[in-house]
Amino acid sequence: MTNLFQPALLAMAVLTAQEPQTFDLEQLHPRVHAAVVVPNPPHYAFANSLIVVGDSAVLVVDTQQSPGAARALIRALPAVTDRPVRWIVNTHWHADHVFGNSAWQEAFPDVRIVGHRSLRSDVPERAAAYRDEQIEALPRAIRERETWLAEGRVNGEPLDAAARAAVGRSLDIRRRYLAELSGLPIVPPDIVMDDTLTIDLGGVTARLTHVGPAHTGGDLVVYVPDARILAMGDLVEWGTPWLEGACVGGWAAALDRTTAMGADRILPSHGPVVGPEFLALYRDLLAALASRGPLQPFRDRFAAAGVGVGGAAGGGAAGGSSSAFDRLVASVPSVTAAAERAGACAPS
Ligand SMILES: [Zn+2]
Repeated sequence: MTNLFQPALLAMAVLTAQEPQTFDLEQLHPRVHAAVVVPNPPHYAFANSLIVVGDSAVLVVDTQQSPGAARALIRALPAVTDRPVRWIVNTHWHADHVFGNSAWQEAFPDVRIVGHRSLRSDVPERAAAYRDEQIEALPRAIRERETWLAEGRVNGEPLDAAARAAVGRSLDIRRRYLAELSGLPIVPPDIVMDDTLTIDLGGVTARLTHVGPAHTGGDLVVYVPDARILAMGDLVEWGTPWLEGACVGGWAAALDRTTAMGADRILPSHGPVVGPEFLALYRDLLAALASRGPLQPFRDRFAAAGVGVGGAAGGGAAGGSSSAFDRLVASVPSVTAAAERAGACAPS
């Protein structure tokens, strides 16, 4: 028996060793794990997921931006549980939270996908439109990178070995992402909710609450009361908030509701696990943006917290440049006007 099994075990070990890591799996509680995207992941992956392990079922919050990233997380799951994933939660309709839905359905045919009622139209309409825009835009980004590699320079600057490797990685990820998008089924939630939903996983519950409109109309947060852990989607991120399509005026109130839940640890979709003090900082920032208050204190508070604001995932210099905050403030009037036109602040 030993001889029969050894080659298989060896092959599995080699496969595991060969696959570059997409996520750091961080145990926050015996039943709750954060899947935090590593820097420069091998897949088109940007958003974190939360994994809640019950006696009878597993719940996963958010499904990644590509089936490849979703499958990477599915392959990593045995490190934390051998129980089946029965529940998926989409915190909102944005691509990095829903484009992996089909991969989870393939892996777990009995899985139920839960989202706010607005996702029933937002996923087939807005997420599908975004997929189509990306299919149109990616060939240009791919050609651009091919040219950079062929010429050995970007904007006249020669590529050193590290930059060449980074461009090659970025090119490879985009080629695979385009191929994935071209056949991507758009899968909306099959269970929709309005206000709250509590899911019993056996020995642990997950409480879903609609707190939007804020980042989007359908923002859900997922709280695990037994562990005092909260997954917040993009309502909080390790960087400046993504305002496009948002209801800025409703965001601080949404954060007040989540603060009242009493979480000790919070998983944003982008960046590391944070504590309630960062939620408080974010709440104050969104209130200041809504009231056009001065933002200088936030530059200092972000810098003190060590938060970079150079990119959505928190890249760039810690504390960020003043221009990052200036751009944020400058965008508020147009975001607010667009929200009024689109009814983004209407109760959803
Ligand atoms: Zn988002």
